[in-house]
Amino acid sequence: MFTEVLQRLGLNAVNSGTRGLTSIDQPTGSRFASVNPATGTTLATVVGTGEADYEQIVAGASRTFATWRTWPAPRRGEVIRQLGQALRQHKADLGLLVTLETGKILSEGEGEVQEMIDMCDFAVGLSRQLHGLTIASERSAHRMFEQWHPLGPVGVITAFNFPVAVWAWNAALAAVCGDVIVWKPSPQTPLTAVAVQKICDRVMADNNCEGLFNLCVGDVSIGERMAADRRLPLISATGSCAMGCRVAATVAGRLGRSLLELGGNNAVIITPQANLDLALRAVLFSAVGTVGQRCTTLRRLIVHESLADSFATKLRQAYASILIGDPWQPGVLLGPLINDRAVTQMLAALDNARQQGGEILCGGRRLDRPGFFVEPTLVSAHANMPIVREETFAPILYLLTYRDLDEAIAIQNSVEQGLSSAIFTDSLTEAETFLSARGSDCGIANVNIGTSGAEIGGAFGGEKDTGGGREAGSDAWKAYMRRQTCTINGGRELPLAQGVRFEIPTT
Ligand code: NAD
Repeated sequence: MFTEVLQRLGLNAVNSGTRGLTSIDQPTGSRFASVNPATGTTLATVVGTGEADYEQIVAGASRTFATWRTWPAPRRGEVIRQLGQALRQHKADLGLLVTLETGKILSEGEGEVQEMIDMCDFAVGLSRQLHGLTIASERSAHRMFEQWHPLGPVGVITAFNFPVAVWAWNAALAAVCGDVIVWKPSPQTPLTAVAVQKICDRVMADNNCEGLFNLCVGDVSIGERMAADRRLPLISATGSCAMGCRVAATVAGRLGRSLLELGGNNAVIITPQANLDLALRAVLFSAVGTVGQRCTTLRRLIVHESLADSFATKLRQAYASILIGDPWQPGVLLGPLINDRAVTQMLAALDNARQQGGEILCGGRRLDRPGFFVEPTLVSAHANMPIVREETFAPILYLLTYRDLDEAIAIQNSVEQGLSSAIFTDSLTEAETFLSARGSDCGIANVNIGTSGAEIGGAFGGEKDTGGGREAGSDAWKAYMRRQTCTINGGRELPLAQGVRFEIPTT
């Protein structure tokens, strides 16, 4: 079955060095194993991008940009429309590959491909809406306006947990904006990246725009090279806060632009006015879904003290009913963590939690089976425990209590990260307080839905250590273009702004 899926995706050289490159005959980089985290076995080996390959790819991207930027934006949109169609045709196969390589359940694997398709659709419409403003001039017979131009080849560095959707957030928008894309996926998920590149290769060949989408398979060293590369005016980087700090410093050192989508430490507040059935379902998906490996995963549950014990009991019962297993099997809700290191980090975090005064209410163990499976875990904790302030990329949910809403919001905002947040309440006053300027300090603030599972129509991203970037919908496209303010004088006079006079005396 797996071999057929790979063949349909154009990946024929399984286990003998699937090429992670396009337009390069002799890739020279190291090899990266694509491992199925549910079994621990190697799915395929992908040849990485060596230094010489990287130089060819970025030089080629610069040449392609010189042409691609001259295509009318709606024509660029037509290429992305075709990419969306190609992704639709391959949705099942690519979704399964995401599941096999990341361990997320099949519905989420396919959902990730749907997100790519949605981004393509969004970008097609956007290709006719890259609007600038017209601005009233203070000078007579003058006209001012803004226009947006393509920026250049854009470097896109992605994390393992959304191996293809985050690429699409960036690539679909950047392409219609007239940019060329150089993508470095996570070394944990090289195979889905190659599969996407193969789909792109076919679409590019059909449209004579080869070199628009480029892939560099590699580890940190390629990412560092991209961050330092002046030929890439924008680096979009998704990953941990530590990675973001390093990338941001390097890019700033050359006065480039960074678009950062970093770690979260997301919270839900449940008030006495909440619909608890709704809250329970939302908490389960947000905390346990994707094995706690989403940037928007719920990590801190802030419950009113009057509800804490009864809600914890309901949560324990719900956790006990979650089916753990192979993520491609129907009914399974919890697959494996990405690798052995992630399991070790989860167990270490739980040790810390115990030492800092936390109590494990359920879960907390590694499963005795091949692969990297763990139990989803509930920990009774306090907001001031250092471990609660960290993002551990695993299904650990810390239960915290509060007395009044101001305290709940203060706890919610007390961490360094600022990505996603939510409140469950049927009180309009509580909801509006949470959404007001003295409420949540996050980039995403929800009422009566969980922290996970954003739609592409909104701008996605977070504040503080989450990096401040915004991607996907709304006006996130502006990050991929340069703004130009233009003034045209249609008159016969040359008035200066602010009434300044600068006239040569007549003799
Ligand atoms: P990671 O930071 O280990 O790696 C992310 C990517 O950055 C990889 O491609 C990696 O090779 C590269 N990288 C690492 N160090 C680098 C450096 N110094 N210079 C250049 N590139 C470098 O993250 P991960 O384990 O793959 O993913 C999990 C993290 O990503 C979590 O913190 C999660 O919250 C975050 N994430 C954030 C978002 C978001 O939109 N905010 C989305 C997905 C994941």
